[in-house]
Amino acid sequence: MKNETSQVLRILSKRYPQKGDMDLGTPEDTILGVLMSARTTDVQVLKIFPSFRKKYPTWKKLAAASPAEIAQSINTIGLYISKAKAINGLAKKILNEFDGKVPQTMEELVTLPGVGRKTASCVLAYCFHVPAIAVDTHVFRIAHRLGWSKGKTPERVEQDLRKLVAEKEWMDINRTFVRFGREICTGARAPRCWMCPVAKWCPYSPKTSAPSA
Ligand code: SF4
Repeated sequence: MKNETSQVLRILSKRYPQKGDMDLGTPEDTILGVLMSARTTDVQVLKIFPSFRKKYPTWKKLAAASPAEIAQSINTIGLYISKAKAINGLAKKILNEFDGKVPQTMEELVTLPGVGRKTASCVLAYCFHVPAIAVDTHVFRIAHRLGWSKGKTPERVEQDLRKLVAEKEWMDINRTFVRFGREICTGARAPRCWMCPVAKWCPYSPKTSAPSA
């Protein structure tokens, strides 16, 4: 099975060589971007992100602002009130407990407000090159369709993928599955199996056919 997962990930990596949308270059930008992207499209986050960071370029500025002020500058994204509260708490905690630096371990990252395993995994993989698997809605769905996991929670799916996929390929999973999930193995609509480059390794049944013209 490891051989099979490697082949699938190799094919998808070739088709989707781009970095993750929320791989924003620094740990500070990446943790904020991923936190803000929950239940919102990446496009919506990227639209407001430059002006948000211009207004709040440091943890100090974010810690000094009130959650209501932060909320105002991100109010076009989903769940902005709770995200603003989390961002304010996260800035305070990073300043007070981590010397102003984004921590580099899963155990520490998940103690930050608004940061779960998915966000922590993105930060570890993108910024610190620590092997990690971020299970978002695309990874969850595609792992099930490919028969790589039957897990009912993201945590369980993550555990299954960690056993099944070689560690050096963990970081390719989220990066490639997100784009594959938007283009071909879609969630809101039925998957487009007729154009799937990894269909021969997928047990999903019945596979869909191209709509007739
Ligand atoms: S064959 Fe269909 S269900 Fe399976 S991975 Fe491809 S698009 Fe998804």
